[in-house]
Amino acid sequence: MRVLVTGGAGYIGSVVTAALLAEGHEVTVLDDLSTGHADAVPVGARLVRASLHDSAPVLAEVRPEAVLHFAAKSLVGESQQAPELYWENNVGGSLALLEAMRAADCRRIVFSSTAATYGEPTEVPIPETAPTRPTNTYGASKLAVDTMLTSYAVAYDVAAVSLRYFNVGGAAFGRGERHATETHLIPIALQVAAGTRESLTVYGDDYPTPDGTCIRDYVHVTDLAAAHLLALPAPAPGEHRVYNLGSGSGFSVQEMVDAVREVTGHELPVVVGPRRAGDPARLVASSARIREDLGWQPVHTDLREIVGDAWTFAQQRG
Ligand code: UDP
Repeated sequence: MRVLVTGGAGYIGSVVTAALLAEGHEVTVLDDLSTGHADAVPVGARLVRASLHDSAPVLAEVRPEAVLHFAAKSLVGESQQAPELYWENNVGGSLALLEAMRAADCRRIVFSSTAATYGEPTEVPIPETAPTRPTNTYGASKLAVDTMLTSYAVAYDVAAVSLRYFNVGGAAFGRGERHATETHLIPIALQVAAGTRESLTVYGDDYPTPDGTCIRDYVHVTDLAAAHLLALPAPAPGEHRVYNLGSGSGFSVQEMVDAVREVTGHELPVVVGPRRAGDPARLVASSARIREDLGWQPVHTDLREIVGDAWTFAQQRG
C-alpha cells in the first residue's frame, strides 16, 4: 500500500515506518521535525518536512491510500501550561490533515490515541466502553480527534481506527525514545543508570497499591507496531474502530525500578517525592477487543525485555 506516516521521525512513528517498509509498503513521512529526528526516518522512506497545517500539497502529490497519524504534541505538563499548543497542533493539525485527505480522496487512517482519553478510571482493566473524561489537555485534544474521526467516518465514508496506547517502551529496528524533554519513567531511569542524571524521583509511594507506587501497563513498541499493521486494513468505509493497546498486566514504579536495576546492574538511586498531579493509581488496559477482532497478541511482555531493549538502544546512542 502507498501510505503517508505523519510524525514518522518520532519514536513510535519511526518504528512503525520501519515495520511498514519491512512488509513492502511504500512510505512517505510527513514531519515538521519539531521534536523528531530526520535520522530516525528509516532508509527507504521519503521524508517531507512540513507541518500538518501544510499537508494538503503533500497529500495531493503522494496520493496515499492510507495515512498513519502519529504527529502530535505529547507532554501532559506542557498541555496544562500552554493548552493552545495542543488545540492548535493536535486538534487543528488533525483537522487540516483530514481535510487534506478528503481533497486527495484518501479515506483510510490509523490514529495514535491514548489512555489519557479515559482520565481517572472507574474500572480496571479499562475497556473501550469506559467513560472518557480526560484530566488534562493532552488527553482532551486526543479525544477531540477521536470524535472527529467518528464524524468523518460517518459523513465521508472514511475507514478509521484509533489506537489508544497505554505506556509504550522498548526499542525496535534500531529506533527508540530520544526526547529533548524527557518525562517518562523508563528513559529517565535509564539516564540515571547511564550516569547522565543523578537520581530518579518516584512520584509518590502512598497510593492504594500493594507497594504504594503507581501501576501502569507497559507495552513493547514491537507489539505496538504489529497492532498498527493489523489495524490498517481492518475497518470498512464508514467505520471508526477504537482499540486499547496495552499488554493487560500492570507493573508498579517500584517493580520498574527493580527491573532497571537488574537489567543495567546499576544501583539506581531513588528519591521518593510527592505525587505528580493527575496521576491515577492504576492504569491497565483491557485489550480484549483488539485481541478478539484482529488476533493481536503482545509477545514482548516481560518488563526486563522492554527495559533491556530500551537500554541497548540508549547505550548505542551513547
Ligand atoms: N514516574 C515517576 N518518576 C518519573 C517519571 C514517572 O515516578 O520521573 C511515574 C509516574 O508517576 C507514573 C509512572 O511512573 O506513575 C509512569 O509515568 P510516565 O510519565 O512514564 O507515563 P504516564 O503513565 O504518565 O503516561
